[in-house]
Amino acid sequence: MIINNDYSIESKLPKVKTTIFATMSALAQSHQAINLGQGFPDFHCDSALIEHVYQAMHAGHNQYPPMTGVPVLRQAIAEKVSGLYHATYDADAEITVTAGATQAIMTSILACVHPGDEVIVIEPAYDSYIPTIELACGIPVLVGMKFKNAQFSIDWDLLASKINAKTRLILINSPHNPTGMTLTPKDFEILANLVRNTKILLISDEVYEHMVFDGQLHLSIASYPELACRSFIISSFGKTYHVTGWKIGYVLAPKALTAEFRKVHQFNVFTVNTPMQLGIANYMQDPSHHLNLPDFYQQKRDYFRRKLASSRFELLPVSGTYFQCVDYSAISDETEIQFATWLTQEIGVATIPVSAFYREQTQNKLVRFCFAKQEKTLDAALERLLTV
Ligand code: PMP
Ligand code: GLN
Repeated sequence: MIINNDYSIESKLPKVKTTIFATMSALAQSHQAINLGQGFPDFHCDSALIEHVYQAMHAGHNQYPPMTGVPVLRQAIAEKVSGLYHATYDADAEITVTAGATQAIMTSILACVHPGDEVIVIEPAYDSYIPTIELACGIPVLVGMKFKNAQFSIDWDLLASKINAKTRLILINSPHNPTGMTLTPKDFEILANLVRNTKILLISDEVYEHMVFDGQLHLSIASYPELACRSFIISSFGKTYHVTGWKIGYVLAPKALTAEFRKVHQFNVFTVNTPMQLGIANYMQDPSHHLNLPDFYQQKRDYFRRKLASSRFELLPVSGTYFQCVDYSAISDETEIQFATWLTQEIGVATIPVSAFYREQTQNKLVRFCFAKQEKTLDAALERLLTV
């Protein structure tokens, strides 16, 4: 047998490295740092949810479920969306259960982006968007947010200037990771004006839909019929029920879009594990489980902010998500990745540089902390953060 040792392949993603979340979590672990970097809770989910999954397993629900997701879960999602956003989605034809939001994003993009199509991405952006567009042979068109007086907002004029006949898709994300910003009714009005009379589709990443604060209501694209008719709306049970490791979410889209989504989904993952779907469907029968979430996380946000306020970090506003961005310019002149590495290795608190959410070098001296943690974890991290 002739052995050829040259197995190198031409990379489809030459600009991509291991994601910042995996990198910072590994660094946190090797330095025994408190991990406020990667976004996940450090507390248990409700044991009732686990009980429902366990019962489903014991009842023998361990074989393939329908490709689109178990009917009771799709029905529970339809009822939630109708109650919260006054939108009607047909559980059979317009709702698909996915292996987390990441798969839903990838599958939506693969389903509708053709080679050479342009896709508008608002930066800072969740790190899976751009590589996924590139895998679909689409062209990411980047639109930086405005960042003024420590506040991020969408630069709609800039975005409008990027729209042309090749624009196939615009990705939006509210509440927004990493900035914690939420879109306003005015933003949706502008977006509707921009896409009216075009064939542009939308992906609305709403994984933090149940983490909005100060009495605001989450504004879902589902509530705007003119936009919903051209949108894939994506959410994540991992975020909502404190089970990020279960990798389960869903996508809402009108019938024609869902049909195309499912053509890809069936060969991407085919379907999602049965007992988790049944367990979640059962758990969703009590809406307080998601309705209580804003208060739950607002308490954590307020606790973390109150204590961090006496540090040298400048806190950016947070109206949604479980992320707090801070400006460290009073502490250091280093780049964001250098500062985040130093904070992890020397101070013992892992964080995420906001520059990781941009394709081109962008340095605003900002890092992101995740406050989805037990009070004792936040206290231990704060004790260290107050020393810098
Ligand atoms: N979108 C955003 C904005 C996220 O922050 C995340 C990560 N939690 C995801 C999508 C992916 O969610 P999931 O873990 O369900 O794939
Ligand atoms: N969404 C999470 C974050 O922003 C991380 C997800 C991941 O690790 N891929 O921290």
